[in-house]
Amino acid sequence: MKQSKLFTKTQKDALKDEVSINAQLLIRAGFIYKEMAGVYAILPLGLRVVNKIADIVRDEMNKTGGVEMQSTALQRQEVWKKTNRWDDDLVDNWFKTKLKNGTELALAFTHEEPMSNMMTNFISSYKDLPVYVYDIRTVFRNEARAKSGIMRGKEFFWKALYSFSKNETQHDEYYEKAKVAYKNVFERVGLGDKTFMTFASGGSFSKYSHEFQTISEAGEDIIYIDEKKGIAVNKEVYTDEVLKDLGLDKNSLVERKAIEVGNIFSLGHKFSEPFSLKYKDEKGESQLVFMGSYGIGISRLMGTIAETHHDDKGMIWPETVAPFKIHLLSLNQNDKAQEIYDALTEKSLEVLFDDREANAGVKFADADLIGLPYQVIVSEKNIRDNQVEIKNRKSGAVEYVSLDNSEIVKYFQNK
Ligand code: ATP
Ligand code: MG
Repeated sequence: MKQSKLFTKTQKDALKDEVSINAQLLIRAGFIYKEMAGVYAILPLGLRVVNKIADIVRDEMNKTGGVEMQSTALQRQEVWKKTNRWDDDLVDNWFKTKLKNGTELALAFTHEEPMSNMMTNFISSYKDLPVYVYDIRTVFRNEARAKSGIMRGKEFFWKALYSFSKNETQHDEYYEKAKVAYKNVFERVGLGDKTFMTFASGGSFSKYSHEFQTISEAGEDIIYIDEKKGIAVNKEVYTDEVLKDLGLDKNSLVERKAIEVGNIFSLGHKFSEPFSLKYKDEKGESQLVFMGSYGIGISRLMGTIAETHHDDKGMIWPETVAPFKIHLLSLNQNDKAQEIYDALTEKSLEVLFDDREANAGVKFADADLIGLPYQVIVSEKNIRDNQVEIKNRKSGAVEYVSLDNSEIVKYFQNK
């Protein structure tokens, strides 16, 4: 993409009312736009990151046997009244609205109820199970706190998977697969070394749920990490009894602030019962379906990466989720740079080409702020020396490659 075609501009200063690092950096670099507190538009550069994260999530969910669908944002009250969750005293973050005829409805904050209700149409026999269905979409929550930028949005983009199994044994098998898939997701987006599977409060059908918590000062949760075992316990459930229950030595746990990037939950019959979501087993007897739910905050992940992957100059995107791999900086050398751009893009390498009329200082500062993994600098001097300069944004290391399109392409194909 040519930067001259990108309508977004970088900003030197952050918005005064924006306290979080993720929103400050992403707004300054032109990845998001603040519409109001807790509500952000995802701009072209930001959308490429969100889509890359979503694709990684999709790939890992598909590998577990998940199938994707698109649920509705508008929700009927009858469905939610079955579990009492329509009640504002039980769910304090609904956005509710009305049809023209006065019927009250709402904007989805999650989908356990509509999914369970819908599945009564499709599940009737043990042969129909298990089902793993997921949804990647925007959901809405009337959050009171809005200090964490895109990490706590009033509307946010997530993946939610719902599992429908015959019984606890079949459910547990999937639950273990989900843990592995989640680990893979966080590794692939560049958060593997900072993200810990964390024991959190369960429900009537399981002692614990599992959160995936990324260590960061910007986090709203406190966790206690056992670094040797690579697991943690959320402060919410942290008691001597729990420590004993998990074989954890208190003395060796480290207290850290962390961001909840995902969670997995055994729901048992909590939702299948109110909806009479049942199947006929092998003996012809009616049984309740055993459910689980599995969330990942995709937009929160982009915020988490911003919080954990930056320096004082700007973003440092992991290659897997960077909006482009290469930032091609033309310092008044657009003809030569265009040739390099064509050669790289022809080989499907993702390039942001700074073809704007701007001075070198502005281009370097913008490139560091936007934070693509590699900067390729095409200057008069480099051309004279028959080379291009390639800077690694993360390490700052500079390499020179001969000014030959196929050499430059080869350099990146080997990366
Ligand atoms: P939290 O404890 O942070 O309020 P939650 O436990 O309510 O989150 P779930 O309803 O289980 O979260 O949602 C699944 C995932 O969606 C969370 O793990 C988190 O990554 C993400 N998420 C939840 N609320 C928000 C929000 N307001 N903005 C962005 N992402 C969110
Ligand atoms: Mg939570």
